[in-house]
Amino acid sequence: MTEPGKIVVVGAGLAGLRAAEELRARGYDGALTLIGAERRLPYDRPPLSKKLLTGDIDDTSLRPDIESLAVDVRLGEPAVELRGRIVRTSAAEYEWDALVLATGAVPVRLPGDGPQRVLRTADDALALRESLQPGVRLVIVGAGWIGAELATAATARGVVVTVLEAANAPLAAALGVEAGQATAAWYASAGVDLRLRQSVAAIRADGVALASGDFLAADVVVTAVGVRPAVSWLAGSGVRLENGIAADAQLRTSVPGVFAVGDCASFWSRRYQRQLRFEHWDIALHAPEVAAANILGGSTEYNPVPYFWSEQFGRMVQYVGWHGAAQRLIWRGDPAGAKWAACWLVGDRLVAALTVGLPRDLLQARRLIEAGSRVDPGKLADPGLALRDSAMHG
Ligand SMILES: Cc1cc2nc3c(=O)[nH]c(=O)nc-3n(C[C@H](O)[C@H](O)[C@H](O)COP(=O)(O)OP(=O)(O)OC[C@H]3O[C@@H](n4cnc5c(N)ncnc54)[C@H](O)[C@@H]3O)c2cc1C
Repeated sequence: MTEPGKIVVVGAGLAGLRAAEELRARGYDGALTLIGAERRLPYDRPPLSKKLLTGDIDDTSLRPDIESLAVDVRLGEPAVELRGRIVRTSAAEYEWDALVLATGAVPVRLPGDGPQRVLRTADDALALRESLQPGVRLVIVGAGWIGAELATAATARGVVVTVLEAANAPLAAALGVEAGQATAAWYASAGVDLRLRQSVAAIRADGVALASGDFLAADVVVTAVGVRPAVSWLAGSGVRLENGIAADAQLRTSVPGVFAVGDCASFWSRRYQRQLRFEHWDIALHAPEVAAANILGGSTEYNPVPYFWSEQFGRMVQYVGWHGAAQRLIWRGDPAGAKWAACWLVGDRLVAALTVGLPRDLLQARRLIEAGSRVDPGKLADPGLALRDSAMHG
């Protein structure tokens, strides 16, 4: 296969930057264009709901020396159309021989005419930080990862925080109700008023209208109910969309020469035997290695054990694997305590683990999941034994 002469990357976030870096690292020295809707150079998002909100840092730039990559960076220029071998942006048209789609995701918004903030971009986070003053009444809609981290940072700044969640437990969408419930007590102990089973009807000028008819007054409302892949501009392009951009195990989309990586892409997971999309930093970091290799003539599969972390209420929470098809949840340690893990099994194979304050368990779980090891559930449940010692041999 001949190397492409012009490569265009759409989306200048972590995945887009990594695609550019990996192409150069693998020796591609042709034309390379990185197109971003935001006006900022690529930056990191995880600190936006953590250290940036608490005021410990102001800048999360990923690669201030981007010129060393010899990339033509076009910022503030959203791609609006893909037709054949041309990407059209708000400002120009770009021809490509290979195209990487890395447009990430955009927050879901709720109905209503009141001011509704979200937390996705550096601008969102910096503006939100300004308004998190002591005594301010903040209502966060959604007790997911972002809602929990925002509640943590806001209480540290003396803000009065209420979190409204439609489900029976925090993190229910990400972890299921049973595991999510184990995090509910963290809110109260941090002084956060967590209200479960609260469905929001609309955001109003001075607060939140609930489906029950109740009204909750607020100075600031942040909607944190999840994101959708940023793919609307691809309508009519021929690129198959299904829970984001559908890619195969090599991260190739339905259009030859077009690859997809990061939050916007679902890919065929050989490990889990289904099409999956993740909103994980680690995926945006590593998937571009595979896409770059394949653009340059390779045929490598991307088959990760997914990994995610969150820092909330003074705890390091880590998740590895994918529990979507799990049949059984095993607790390791007391979920009311400071350190514990939840382990998901399919049959007697470990498929996912959530650890709280147990980074070593996380690493050992990752290895067992990677190896497809069978585990002894009794040993797995015993926090006195190393997690790896639950593996059954033979
Ligand atoms: C506040 C916050 C905290 C997080 N914390 C964690 C964490 O603790 N752990 C973890 O594992 N993950 C975390 N994540 C998730 C992680 O940051 C994402 O998985 C990662 O940023 C995905 O990278 P990406 O490049 O695919 O998408 P993005 O980072 O969303 O980048 C995509 C870029 O493409 C641009 N774009 C969109 N449409 C177009 C278009 N049409 N044309 C041109 N450009 C376009 C966007 O403006 C954006 O800049 C967090 C995310 C957020 C928002």
